[in-house]
Amino acid sequence: MILPIVKYGHPALRQKGEAVETFDETLEEFVHNMLDTMYDADGVGLAAQQVGKATQVTVIDVSQVEDRPSTMAVDGKEVSIPDFMPLVLVNPVVKPLNDRVKGPEGCLSFPEIYADIERPESVEVSAQDHKGNSFSFTCGGLLSKAVQHEVDHLKGILFIDRMERKDKDKLRNVLEAMRETTQKELSQ
Ligand code: ZN
Repeated sequence: MILPIVKYGHPALRQKGEAVETFDETLEEFVHNMLDTMYDADGVGLAAQQVGKATQVTVIDVSQVEDRPSTMAVDGKEVSIPDFMPLVLVNPVVKPLNDRVKGPEGCLSFPEIYADIERPESVEVSAQDHKGNSFSFTCGGLLSKAVQHEVDHLKGILFIDRMERKDKDKLRNVLEAMRETTQKELSQ
């Protein structure tokens, strides 16, 4: 089932996600719906807050992106990305491994808005899957950016919070209009 994606201005985007403690059929169905929603929107990642639910669940799939490479390793061994997609991260924890690099980002909750965001090039990720099994991996490139962007969402942090001042200043009016439109829709 495709869920509505909430836009900037929706209060759910600023809510910290509750940790998931129950791994049941409801969670499984929610994860399936999030995957359907992400693929329908042609996104590489989607966080629970973006469908209005403040919980620690995100889905990611970078396997269709050809122009921005990703790397992934499990137990220190390089793995084939498509074998691990889609990724379902429940209660994820991210640890930076190296210096920050700048790269372009967009967000399904901010249609048509793109900016360069600085983030660590690679990260170590520990999470649970939808059944509650723990797993960990390291990743770089686009996958690393996607994981960091989505895990930010789970904490109520948005990519505009990480934009350079000059980029955010340029977008100020567009963002304000988006926020007002969302709030108008919510009050109806
Ligand atoms: Zn986003």
